[in-house]
Amino acid sequence: MNIIKEITNPEVFKPHPNCTNKEIFVQFIPEARCFIIPNHDYSEIEVDNFIVNSKFNRGKGIGTKMIAAIKAYFPNAHIWVDTWNHSRPFWTKMMERGYIDSIGNDYSWPCFDTNCRICHPNRANGRRRIR
Ligand SMILES: [Zn+2]
Repeated sequence: MNIIKEITNPEVFKPHPNCTNKEIFVQFIPEARCFIIPNHDYSEIEVDNFIVNSKFNRGKGIGTKMIAAIKAYFPNAHIWVDTWNHSRPFWTKMMERGYIDSIGNDYSWPCFDTNCRICHPNRANGRRRIR
């Protein structure tokens, strides 16, 4: 039995082409998209790879609408995320509003973008030092 097909609109959750445990949430494409990684009965859902396209009104609430929509599709699931240092304030706010249930990592996790000054405050010029 595929629970997701019974309780959600299958048109907005597409199988991930390379990862059988992930589904792509496409409702907000091209403005934003993310993956969900559900457990066997969709009672626990990790939200992953949450991206708001910078060309489309970043900071205008699209990310909030996307996570609110996921919560609406899975109102009884425990929804959680791992956070980069730069995205933790956003996710803390989303938890306060009840759109997610927990933040997985409670430790510092700098992102891979070495130009990100929140995650990499010591790399003010965005370049790696060469010895
Ligand atoms: Zn960062």
